[in-house]
Amino acid sequence: MASDPVDATAALLGEARHVVVLTGAGISTESGIPDFRGPNGVWTKNPDAEKTATLQHYVSNPDVRVQAWRNRVNGPYWTAEPNDGHRALVDIEHALGERFGLLVTQNIDSLHLAAGADPARIIEIHGNVRDVKCLSCPYRAPMSVALDRVQAGEDDPACPDCGGLLKSATISFGENLVADDLVRAQEHALRCDLFLALGTSLGVYPAAALPEIAVRQGAALVVANAEPTPFDPVADVVSRAPLGEFLPAVAARLAPLGNSRPGQ
Ligand code: NAD
Repeated sequence: MASDPVDATAALLGEARHVVVLTGAGISTESGIPDFRGPNGVWTKNPDAEKTATLQHYVSNPDVRVQAWRNRVNGPYWTAEPNDGHRALVDIEHALGERFGLLVTQNIDSLHLAAGADPARIIEIHGNVRDVKCLSCPYRAPMSVALDRVQAGEDDPACPDCGGLLKSATISFGENLVADDLVRAQEHALRCDLFLALGTSLGVYPAAALPEIAVRQGAALVVANAEPTPFDPVADVVSRAPLGEFLPAVAARLAPLGNSRPGQ
């Protein structure tokens, strides 16, 4: 096998019949959204910030909610744009066609969709920040509706229907994943022959169980992450390069391998 991570990844993609990709916060740092656990991560710099993403603290502590709403208003999500990594992943998806099985993202920023990823082949396994939801009733609305209320002076806006607690439509720690999403992701991991883990510390379960499932049933594994992960020892390829460089380089190698979908 080629020893350069770019060549090796392109070669694996050229041969694979069913590819599953898992992305994490690391693919969006080059869009200006900090990750949690990297050297400049939100939690690395301020371990207390983890509380705003933990359901138990969010529900029981009004100060945590006020801080969470302040973070949302001032957050990077509303202005961030997809970067070269997101765009190259769309190129890879197009180059693979039907062989691109599923993109599972832990990110809540929807930048894969903004870059043009096929909505039918993506699972936002931790939800997204586009919507706000009530923790007590079915109320759901665009996030801008709640942010407007915060900017108008409400520091912890309540549900307009039932008075319950509002939260972004993300899956916080302590909250269950959407069962159908998890089952679908696991099914793809069970039948893939190549799994790419991109920009994730692979420390958050059950998402991190997906590469485990894939490797156990014999799939090849590529880990592209700036820092070591627990899966590096079992990976076929490990890259530490920034994803905004690594993925475009991989995508550029795919076209000459003749993997373009018919008509492209
Ligand atoms: P993480 O913070 O645990 O790990 C991110 C990893 O990416 C780090 O190991 C870091 O070294 C690496 N990294 C950072 N920039 C990189 C780059 N340019 N190229 C290659 N690697 C890079 O993130 P995680 O594993 O996704 O898990 C944390 C949780 O945080 C997820 O559940 C996710 O929902 C949430 N989160 C999402 C966002 C977002 O939506 N953009 C941002 C922060 C956290």
